[in-house]
Amino acid sequence: MKYALALHGGAGTITRNQLSAEQERLYKNALEKALKLGIAILRGGGKSIDAVVQTVMYLENDDLFNAGKGSVFTHHGTHEMDASVMEGRTLKAGAVAGLHSIKNPVLAALHVMEHTEHVLLAGSQANQYLSQHLTTVNHDYFFSDYRFNQWQQALKDDKVVMDHTEKKFGTVGAVALDHNGDLAAATSTGGMTNKKFGRVGDTPLIGSGTYANNNTCAISCTGHGEFFIRSVVAYDISCLIEYKGLSLADACNEVVKNKLNNIGGEGGLIALDKNGIPALVFNSEGMYRAAEGSNFEKLIAIYND
Ligand code: ASP
Repeated sequence: MKYALALHGGAGTITRNQLSAEQERLYKNALEKALKLGIAILRGGGKSIDAVVQTVMYLENDDLFNAGKGSVFTHHGTHEMDASVMEGRTLKAGAVAGLHSIKNPVLAALHVMEHTEHVLLAGSQANQYLSQHLTTVNHDYFFSDYRFNQWQQALKDDKVVMDHTEKKFGTVGAVALDHNGDLAAATSTGGMTNKKFGRVGDTPLIGSGTYANNNTCAISCTGHGEFFIRSVVAYDISCLIEYKGLSLADACNEVVKNKLNNIGGEGGLIALDKNGIPALVFNSEGMYRAAEGSNFEKLIAIYND
């Protein structure tokens, strides 16, 4: 039976010097558990869309990561979460932006895909509608001293801070191939610390932060969202495969290491091609990542080695 799953927990300035042995252990443990959960679904004959949603949900519930529970603070001291999902067989997709009280934004994205005629719902009306169908939490759920201090520092510096540049935490995502040959992708984030004006990054934008197409690949991105939006990263990679016949690895390298780099966009992505071959590519110093499949060895890694 052919199956594969890859996941990330954010990319950025993550080096050996910046993580203590204990932090490294915590991250690797979380990545491993999330991977195990997703792989068990696939091995049990489950669908790729379920595997990516459950994997991302697991990471959303762990405050090590900037998604769900661990979401960063906005300028106003609130939390605004974005997420998206896509199925490669049907090209159906669902996404949410600026949610503030839904416990698992990835489930909200799935709900949009499965139960509405839309692709992207945003803001307070979206939050209100989705709260009728999904578990909600109050503001305190997201509080941690680390996130609070991070926000206070960003306010003081008057900067909008990407989580990765702070060495810790990050957006989460997963891609999977199931035994039917169906690809799927999911991504979830709290965005950037101190973000203002209803800022939305690449995560909920299909084609930028997330994309899946059974003819090409499944992709989930993490990094400085504005650059990923301008480079339409995920769809660009799919196009290089579809129209130019590039391999997944070549397409990812071209977009992440060449195009994105040239405009100063920092970050990375995880991807699977239609045969379940993975590519875990980043132009930053590190990326929390893991992958396992029926035709390659399990990998759990953080640094650029
Ligand atoms: N891409 C996300 C955003 O710009 C941030 C991240 O990957 O951590 O909102």
